[in-house]
Amino acid sequence: MKMVLRTSQLGYPRIGEQREWKRTLEAYWKGERSKERFYEEMRHIRLSHLQKQRDAQIDYIPVGDFSFYDHVLDTALMFNVIPERFAQTPLDPLDTYFAMARGSDAGEACEMTKWFDTNYHYIVPEFHHGWVPKITTNYVLKAYEEAKKELGIEAKPVLLGPFTFLKLSKGYTDTEFPQLAEKLVPLYEHVISELHEAGASLIQVDEPSLVTSLSETDVEHLTNIYREIAERLPEVNLLLQTYFDSIDHFEQVVSLPVKGIGLDFVHDKGANLQAIKTSGFPEDKLLGAGIIDGRNIWKTDVHDAFTLLTELQEIVPAERLLVQPSSSLLHVPVTLKYETKLDQELLNGLAYAEEKVYELHLLKTRGNYPTDEAVKQTFADYQQTVDTFKEASFRQATNDSTDLGFPTHRTHTYEERKALQEKKWRLPFLPTTTIGSFPQTRDVKRTRTEWRRGELADDAYDTFVKGKIEKWITIQEEVGLDVFVHGEFERNDMVEYFGEKLNGFAVTQNGWVQSYGSRCVKPPVIYGNVSFEKPMTVKETAFAQSLTAKPVKGMLTGPVTILNWSFVRDDISNRKVTEQIAKALVEEVAALEQAGIEMIQMDEPALREGLPLKKHHQQAYLDWAVEAFRLATAQVTPTTQVHTHMCYCDFHDIIDSIKALDADVISIETSRSHGELIETFKTNVYDKGIGLGVYDIHSPQIPSIEKMMTVIKQALNVLPAQAFWVNPDCGLKTRTEEQTIAALKNMVAATKKVREEWKVSQ
Ligand code: GLN
Ligand code: ZN
Repeated sequence: MKMVLRTSQLGYPRIGEQREWKRTLEAYWKGERSKERFYEEMRHIRLSHLQKQRDAQIDYIPVGDFSFYDHVLDTALMFNVIPERFAQTPLDPLDTYFAMARGSDAGEACEMTKWFDTNYHYIVPEFHHGWVPKITTNYVLKAYEEAKKELGIEAKPVLLGPFTFLKLSKGYTDTEFPQLAEKLVPLYEHVISELHEAGASLIQVDEPSLVTSLSETDVEHLTNIYREIAERLPEVNLLLQTYFDSIDHFEQVVSLPVKGIGLDFVHDKGANLQAIKTSGFPEDKLLGAGIIDGRNIWKTDVHDAFTLLTELQEIVPAERLLVQPSSSLLHVPVTLKYETKLDQELLNGLAYAEEKVYELHLLKTRGNYPTDEAVKQTFADYQQTVDTFKEASFRQATNDSTDLGFPTHRTHTYEERKALQEKKWRLPFLPTTTIGSFPQTRDVKRTRTEWRRGELADDAYDTFVKGKIEKWITIQEEVGLDVFVHGEFERNDMVEYFGEKLNGFAVTQNGWVQSYGSRCVKPPVIYGNVSFEKPMTVKETAFAQSLTAKPVKGMLTGPVTILNWSFVRDDISNRKVTEQIAKALVEEVAALEQAGIEMIQMDEPALREGLPLKKHHQQAYLDWAVEAFRLATAQVTPTTQVHTHMCYCDFHDIIDSIKALDADVISIETSRSHGELIETFKTNVYDKGIGLGVYDIHSPQIPSIEKMMTVIKQALNVLPAQAFWVNPDCGLKTRTEEQTIAALKNMVAATKKVREEWKVSQ
């Protein structure tokens, strides 16, 4: 049988099997690695990824996807898009690179933001008027040559495409887009022609911006860019790769003058397949068929994937099809090899990057050897494990009843609640509070690790946590805050903590993914029906409350944040999963209330993150997200004060949904959005309790009394004074104890001064 189908990989996780990459990076930053050794260790990691993909017989192995920090930053540096503040002092390129990512004496780090709707963050390229268009180094060419020289691999170079690169950059206005593109595209042409001359037969150009809602002008710009490249370099083969959703302007995009188009058939809600069926696919192009989920950790139902592949083959012949993951595997952990503690039942259903690469090969072989019995058997065996997992009892829907037996909205209006709560709580004007966590000092982390390893008994650990709570209740009394928290010392992470305690979740050992720079996260896995088992936060909160006459807020993570920061089962809708989480939280809320905790904060910092990429899908998401939050907080008595907290995102376009949460009090970060949020409230009346963060908790600097007074007064100009709260931007777990105490003392002092001034002025 002639081999026709080929496999193509879009990108491999950088972090290494056991986060070696992170360790090398951090050791270098600390000065514990010489530059030479740093490069050597990184080279080793990079080559090992190529080797693994070669072992899995992948036809097109990507190069240029590896990075020391972030691929958008790599691209910016390659094209000399370096902010002026870093261009002034000539540094070694590696130092400039890390200075842009992390800040240095030369200046503040570049802005960092979320990569589409993932939890990966990229460094935002900053154009400025003095930008000199030039190529510093063609790092993709180096990677291509390295693969050939060291391993004899004819790799497929990967570039971040010019359209998306510009879309993700700042420092120019919309009208300047064409002029900037005119300067940038020749640089791309140079890089691409060098790759072509070096022998690259196919070059992947990532254009994920094509899945967002584009205007006609956008499409025009895009078309101009690719026409221009094709005119200059008619002989190169570009594969225009999209991912994370479907493309809207299907016919225009697929007719661009490129060799191939890569589409996501997993996260497209069926739209890409539909478009191909309706409009067909150009006869001279390759189709990169993303049929394996590049963003989630479930084993592929190879039977279904193969059916899809067969369907595609009716339109695009096998020799023009590339079997691909839906996106780069950057968003999934590396290998299942170290998951030694998970139940076999669950393990049956999992595939990390290494396993996904194998799946590509499996699908290809199944297609290319349709009559080979051994191939068929391997394929069937694989499907068997998938089926076993799918049939597991924990996957069967249980709590689907729509009759919840309790209200899904609060029984009293905000106005009614407000009156009742004022009477009950008798808080001062401008109440002061914090967001939840207090410093996770070395001893807190060490003690938790010892306890987890079984080296410390439960009692001893409890005593330790209680000691911390006691200490911080005393500190809060001394500082003079009005509403207290217990400090979250028992929590490693605000989602994993609940994941460990709720049914339907598993916590992995090695399921790390890169979040930003060297920071990796280990999202819990929602594999089955989520339900409440027993109280999760009552013990610590009630203990804290027993030590003080001041109210202590019960701290919970909201259902949408738990969803967005987990790997989520894909056999039922996210909405359904979120509803299950919300119902479980209802029971936790009730348990807290029963224990006398009557201020409850449910954090939703990740609510904005789940916003779909396409505008026309956004409202539906926001609606069910808000519903889930309301469901989780609905059944409390009217005097119980429900708080929520959000941070580090654009709020202005979701302000209506924030209002709709119907929380009695919300605390929102402000420092990083530089007053933009305050602007928002000028035009948007907010009528419920609101605390605008008065200082940035990410900075070790102690905020001055004056500065915080200014922030408070600014906010009082636009918000109803009687509903205003004073608090930091976010939790304080990353600060030292000294910094925290000093900052909070100043915050209370600032509040007192404003209270005085306000009294006089009224
Ligand atoms: N309550 C959490 C804390 O203080 C909130 C964290 C967050 O918003 N990311 O740490
Ligand atoms: Zn926060």
